[in-house]
Amino acid sequence: MPEYESLRLDGKVALVTGASRGIGRAVALELARQGAKVTVNYNASIKAAEEVVTLIKAHGGEAQAVMADVSNFNRAQELVKSTIDNFGGLDILVNNAGITRDMLIMMMSEEDWDAVQNTNLKSTFNCSKAAVRHMMRKRFGRIINITSVAGQMGNAGQTNYSASKAGQIGFTKALAREVAARNITVNGIAAGYIDTDIWNTVPEEAQQAALSIIPLGRKGQPEEIAYAVAFLASDQAAYITGQILGVDGGMAMM
Ligand code: NAP
Repeated sequence: MPEYESLRLDGKVALVTGASRGIGRAVALELARQGAKVTVNYNASIKAAEEVVTLIKAHGGEAQAVMADVSNFNRAQELVKSTIDNFGGLDILVNNAGITRDMLIMMMSEEDWDAVQNTNLKSTFNCSKAAVRHMMRKRFGRIINITSVAGQMGNAGQTNYSASKAGQIGFTKALAREVAARNITVNGIAAGYIDTDIWNTVPEEAQQAALSIIPLGRKGQPEEIAYAVAFLASDQAAYITGQILGVDGGMAMM
């Protein structure tokens, strides 16, 4: 058995999509705390992204903020390239960027459907494709996709979102099989209800209904997703691939 000292990610380079706010922000901070150099991707929230970088640097870490709409194939390729160029490689990709456009199907527009698929699912393909090219040569990689219990259980009013999140689960398993021989692991985290801006758009009544089906009886914190990401990115998780880890207070129990 190899000897491992700790969970630390010293010398590793990470790219976290949608890291200006919410779960992505917590993931970027945690990976940096564990020693990784981090690209903090954002689309619109430049001030928030720069604040994440400032926080990381204030604690002695290395980070850069890079604007890119990851639903756009070319922008996603440039984002990965900028990480490799700036930090000399890429070891950990966290596909986290995501949006909701909740609506019953009778009222859902084609635009609401496409925006959610492109931002949540196509972005996962866009960034993974660029990262895998580099990781294959390096014979090392960790890809972690932030999916949702909505992709496992379905959620009324979220056909677009649930489909995109279920798509990420299938993508995770298929890619895990494709790249395992090159020492690249691909896993997903199915997040439950986490205290971020997305959660705060849910009406109070629906929030109470959601809380009532969580065995642990509370919403999760972004840091609780970040700790799981750090574990899946670590050497200790080397024998885990193609898995979807529920971090949901026991809500889905697949
Ligand atoms: P959030 O607080 O709304 O943050 C979303 C992040 O995604 C922001 O940093 C945003 O950046 C970024 N983003 C959105 N569109 C983007 C694009 N086209 N290109 C690049 N970045 C983009 O959401 P969150 O709750 O942290 O969600 C993060 C992920 O966790 C999502 O994939 C979501 O589906 C998943 N998740 C969340 C929950 C939950 O309860 N919160 C549960 C399950 C799964 P800008 O502000 O710069 O645009």
